[in-house]
Amino acid sequence: MPELVFFSGTMDCGKSTLALQIGHNRSARGLQGVIFTRDDRAGEGKLSSRLGLVTDAVEADEGMDVYAHLVDQISRGGRVDYVIVDEAQFLAPVQIDQLARVVDDLGLDVFAFGITTDFRTKLFPGSQRLIELADRIEALQVEALCWCGARATHNARTVDGEMVVEGAQVVVGDVNRQAGEVGYEVLCRRHHRRRMTAGTARAGTLSPDVLPVAAEG
Ligand SMILES: [Zn+2]
Repeated sequence: MPELVFFSGTMDCGKSTLALQIGHNRSARGLQGVIFTRDDRAGEGKLSSRLGLVTDAVEADEGMDVYAHLVDQISRGGRVDYVIVDEAQFLAPVQIDQLARVVDDLGLDVFAFGITTDFRTKLFPGSQRLIELADRIEALQVEALCWCGARATHNARTVDGEMVVEGAQVVVGDVNRQAGEVGYEVLCRRHHRRRMTAGTARAGTLSPDVLPVAAEG
Protein backbone atom coordinates (compact mmCIF):
# COMPACT_ATOMS: atom_id res chain seq x y z
CA MET A 1 0.00 0.00 0.00
CA PRO A 2 1.38 3.42 -0.90
CA GLU A 3 1.80 5.74 2.04
CA LEU A 4 2.09 9.37 2.98
CA VAL A 5 4.90 9.36 5.55
CA PHE A 6 5.87 12.43 7.56
CA PHE A 7 9.46 12.35 8.83
CA SER A 8 9.52 15.00 11.51
CA GLY A 9 12.27 16.50 13.56
CA THR A 10 13.99 19.65 14.69
CA MET A 11 16.42 21.60 12.60
CA ASP A 12 19.83 19.95 12.30
CA CYS A 13 18.44 16.45 12.87
CA GLY A 14 19.47 15.20 9.45
CA LYS A 15 16.14 15.37 7.63
CA SER A 16 17.54 16.47 4.30
CA THR A 17 20.34 13.92 4.55
CA LEU A 18 17.79 11.14 5.04
CA ALA A 19 15.68 12.52 2.17
CA LEU A 20 18.74 12.30 -0.08
CA GLN A 21 19.52 8.81 1.21
CA ILE A 22 16.01 7.55 0.46
CA GLY A 23 16.27 8.98 -3.05
CA HIS A 24 19.68 7.40 -3.53
CA ASN A 25 18.56 3.96 -2.32
CA ARG A 26 15.57 3.95 -4.63
CA SER A 27 17.40 5.21 -7.69
CA ALA A 28 20.01 2.48 -7.08
CA ARG A 29 17.14 0.00 -7.49
CA GLY A 30 16.13 1.62 -10.77
CA LEU A 31 13.26 3.67 -9.38
CA GLN A 32 12.68 7.27 -10.42
CA GLY A 33 11.40 9.87 -8.05
CA VAL A 34 10.36 13.47 -8.07
CA ILE A 35 11.83 15.65 -5.35
CA PHE A 36 9.98 18.76 -4.26
CA THR A 37 11.40 21.34 -1.92
CA ARG A 38 10.67 24.85 -0.80
CA ASP A 39 13.14 27.55 0.17
CA ASP A 40 16.11 25.20 0.51
CA ARG A 41 19.26 26.84 1.84
CA ALA A 42 21.06 26.01 -1.41
CA GLY A 43 18.57 28.03 -3.46
CA GLU A 44 15.54 27.49 -5.64
CA GLY A 45 15.14 24.03 -7.14
CA LYS A 46 17.78 22.43 -4.92
CA LEU A 47 17.71 19.91 -2.11
CA SER A 48 20.81 20.14 0.05
CA SER A 49 21.95 18.65 3.32
CA ARG A 50 24.29 20.02 5.93
CA LEU A 51 26.71 17.25 5.05
CA GLY A 52 27.25 19.00 1.74
CA LEU A 53 25.22 16.85 -0.66
CA VAL A 54 23.04 18.63 -3.19
CA THR A 55 20.59 17.39 -5.82
CA ASP A 56 18.15 19.04 -8.19
CA ALA A 57 14.58 19.39 -7.05
CA VAL A 58 11.31 20.97 -8.12
CA GLU A 59 10.55 24.18 -6.26
CA ALA A 60 7.05 23.80 -4.78
CA ASP A 61 6.12 27.44 -5.09
CA GLU A 62 3.20 28.86 -3.19
CA GLY A 63 0.13 28.15 -5.28
CA MET A 64 1.68 25.26 -7.21
CA ASP A 65 -0.61 22.24 -7.54
CA VAL A 66 1.79 19.38 -6.81
CA TYR A 67 -0.80 16.77 -7.77
CA ALA A 68 -1.40 18.42 -11.16
CA HIS A 69 2.36 18.78 -11.66
CA LEU A 70 2.83 15.01 -11.26
CA VAL A 71 -0.19 14.12 -13.42
CA ASP A 72 1.21 16.39 -16.11
CA GLN A 73 4.65 14.79 -15.90
CA ILE A 74 3.20 11.26 -16.09
CA SER A 75 0.87 12.16 -18.97
CA ARG A 76 3.91 13.39 -20.94
CA GLY A 77 5.43 9.94 -20.57
CA GLY A 78 7.61 10.76 -17.57
CA ARG A 79 8.11 8.01 -15.08
CA VAL A 80 7.40 8.66 -11.41
CA ASP A 81 7.79 5.87 -8.85
CA TYR A 82 7.83 7.89 -5.63
CA VAL A 83 7.80 11.44 -4.33
CA ILE A 84 10.07 13.15 -1.80
CA VAL A 85 9.19 16.50 -0.25
CA ASP A 86 11.79 18.37 1.77
CA GLU A 87 11.11 21.47 3.87
CA ALA A 88 7.50 20.26 3.90
CA GLN A 89 6.66 22.63 6.74
CA PHE A 90 6.77 25.49 4.23
CA LEU A 91 4.10 23.95 1.97
CA ALA A 92 0.56 25.28 2.17
CA PRO A 93 -2.01 22.98 3.81
CA VAL A 94 -3.80 22.61 0.47
CA GLN A 95 -0.55 21.29 -1.04
CA ILE A 96 -0.40 18.63 1.69
CA ASP A 97 -3.94 17.61 0.69
CA GLN A 98 -2.63 17.30 -2.87
CA LEU A 99 0.14 14.99 -1.61
CA ALA A 100 -2.46 12.76 0.04
CA ARG A 101 -4.25 12.61 -3.29
CA VAL A 102 -0.97 11.61 -5.00
CA VAL A 103 -0.85 8.61 -2.63
CA ASP A 104 -4.52 7.68 -3.00
CA ASP A 105 -5.17 8.40 -6.69
CA LEU A 106 -1.75 7.89 -8.26
CA GLY A 107 -0.66 5.08 -5.96
CA LEU A 108 2.73 6.64 -5.17
CA ASP A 109 4.64 6.68 -1.90
CA VAL A 110 5.17 10.22 -0.65
CA PHE A 111 7.95 10.87 1.86
CA ALA A 112 7.64 14.31 3.42
CA PHE A 113 10.38 15.77 5.63
CA GLY A 114 9.85 18.75 7.83
CA ILE A 115 10.16 20.61 11.07
CA THR A 116 7.02 20.36 13.17
CA THR A 117 7.14 23.56 15.20
CA ASP A 118 8.56 27.02 14.64
CA PHE A 119 10.68 29.14 16.99
CA ARG A 120 7.53 30.09 18.93
CA THR A 121 6.79 26.36 19.50
CA LYS A 122 3.74 26.67 17.21
CA LEU A 123 3.03 24.16 14.46
CA PHE A 124 3.82 25.20 10.91
CA PRO A 125 0.55 24.99 8.91
CA GLY A 126 2.09 22.50 6.48
CA SER A 127 3.28 20.28 9.32
CA GLN A 128 -0.08 20.47 11.05
CA ARG A 129 -1.79 19.25 7.90
CA LEU A 130 0.77 16.44 7.57
CA ILE A 131 0.08 15.31 11.13
CA GLU A 132 -3.62 15.32 10.30
CA LEU A 133 -3.30 13.39 7.02
CA ALA A 134 -0.18 11.20 7.17
CA ASP A 135 -0.51 7.43 7.18
CA ARG A 136 2.59 7.32 9.35
CA ILE A 137 4.69 9.80 11.29
CA GLU A 138 8.33 9.02 11.98
CA ALA A 139 10.30 11.03 14.53
CA LEU A 140 13.84 11.10 13.18
CA GLN A 141 16.34 9.20 15.23
CA VAL A 142 19.38 11.31 14.44
CA GLU A 143 19.03 13.45 17.50
CA ALA A 144 20.10 17.03 17.61
CA LEU A 145 21.50 18.07 20.98
CA CYS A 146 21.00 21.17 23.09
CA TRP A 147 24.15 22.90 24.33
CA CYS A 148 23.49 21.23 27.71
CA GLY A 149 23.68 17.78 26.12
CA ALA A 150 19.97 17.00 26.41
CA ARG A 151 17.92 16.01 23.38
CA ALA A 152 17.02 19.15 21.43
CA THR A 153 13.29 19.19 20.77
CA HIS A 154 12.68 22.87 20.04
CA ASN A 155 13.87 25.42 17.50
CA ALA A 156 15.01 28.82 18.71
CA ARG A 157 15.44 31.96 16.65
CA THR A 158 18.08 34.45 17.71
CA VAL A 159 18.46 38.05 16.73
CA ASP A 160 21.90 39.47 17.44
CA GLY A 161 22.56 36.43 19.61
CA GLU A 162 19.49 36.87 21.80
CA MET A 163 16.65 34.36 21.59
CA VAL A 164 13.35 35.84 20.43
CA VAL A 165 9.87 34.36 20.67
CA GLU A 166 7.96 36.87 18.59
CA GLY A 167 8.07 37.69 14.92
CA ALA A 168 7.00 36.32 11.56
CA GLN A 169 6.93 32.52 11.26
CA VAL A 170 9.20 32.68 8.23
CA VAL A 171 11.70 35.51 7.81
CA VAL A 172 12.60 36.12 4.19
CA GLY A 173 16.22 35.19 3.74
CA ASP A 174 16.58 33.32 6.99
CA VAL A 175 16.72 29.97 5.22
CA ASN A 176 20.11 30.96 3.87
CA ARG A 177 21.16 32.11 7.29
CA GLN A 178 22.62 35.17 5.62
CA ALA A 179 20.18 37.66 7.05
CA GLY A 180 22.90 39.01 9.29
CA GLU A 181 21.50 39.08 12.76
CA VAL A 182 18.91 36.28 12.45
CA GLY A 183 20.10 32.83 13.48
CA TYR A 184 18.69 29.51 14.62
CA GLU A 185 19.66 27.07 17.33
CA VAL A 186 18.11 23.86 18.60
CA LEU A 187 17.44 23.62 22.33
CA CYS A 188 15.86 21.27 24.84
CA ARG A 189 12.45 22.42 26.05
CA ARG A 190 13.82 23.57 29.40
CA HIS A 191 16.31 25.93 27.82
CA HIS A 192 13.85 27.04 25.17
CA ARG A 193 11.47 28.05 27.97
CA ARG A 194 14.29 29.85 29.79
CA ARG A 195 15.49 31.40 26.53
CA MET A 196 19.00 30.19 27.20
CA THR A 197 21.04 29.69 24.06
CA ALA A 198 24.62 28.43 24.06
CA GLY A 199 25.76 32.04 23.92
CA THR A 200 23.69 33.32 26.79
CA ALA A 201 24.54 30.22 28.85
CA ARG A 202 28.24 30.98 28.40
CA ALA A 203 27.69 34.58 29.38
CA GLY A 204 25.50 33.44 32.26
CA THR A 205 28.16 31.28 33.91
CA LEU A 206 29.42 34.49 35.51
CA SER A 207 25.92 35.53 36.49
CA PRO A 208 23.80 34.46 39.47
CA ASP A 209 20.87 34.19 37.02
CA VAL A 210 22.08 30.73 36.04
CA LEU A 211 21.88 29.28 39.54
CA PRO A 212 18.23 28.14 39.45
CA VAL A 213 19.03 26.07 36.35
CA ALA A 214 22.11 24.56 37.95
CA ALA A 215 20.17 23.77 41.12
CA GLU A 216 17.56 21.84 39.18
CA GLY A 217 20.32 19.91 37.48
ZN1 LIG B 1 19.25 22.25 27.28
